[in-house]
Amino acid sequence: MNGEIRVGHGFDTHRFSDDPDRPLILGGVQFEGAAGLVGHSDGDAVAHAVTDALLSAAGFGDIGVLFPDTDDKWAGADSIGLLADAVARLADKGWRVVNADCTVLTEAPRIAPHRDQMQARLSEVVGAPVTVKGKRAEAMGALGRGEGLACWAVALIERQ
Ligand code: MG
Repeated sequence: MNGEIRVGHGFDTHRFSDDPDRPLILGGVQFEGAAGLVGHSDGDAVAHAVTDALLSAAGFGDIGVLFPDTDDKWAGADSIGLLADAVARLADKGWRVVNADCTVLTEAPRIAPHRDQMQARLSEVVGAPVTVKGKRAEAMGALGRGEGLACWAVALIERQ
């Protein structure tokens, strides 16, 4: 790497929905048979955390500024599309993503069986390696009771 490099951090959390018809989508991958997440968009907390990490690294603000949940334009939005939009905004200013890494904290469902698919989907959209790992809250607090899930992400970007 020869150019300027920057790191960014992202975090997101969503509650699980009571709506049995709401699909769970994480990292652009649908988890069959799992409860979905409440959200103005599709509730993809992993895509949101990675998006925020990238926007933050470049100093472009955050997902709430660019895609406000008060705007009906983003209702039910495919969050992978928002992530792709963020990557395009970075590229526009000469930033290339080096890699990103995510930790998803959830009691259920298990992330491991979907990990390869999530990594492949996210890496494809970001244009760089995106790694994912799942952790459990060990029955502590709201996340431990399965009320929702949280995701942390870091991303490294390089100016071309
Ligand atoms: Mg979110």
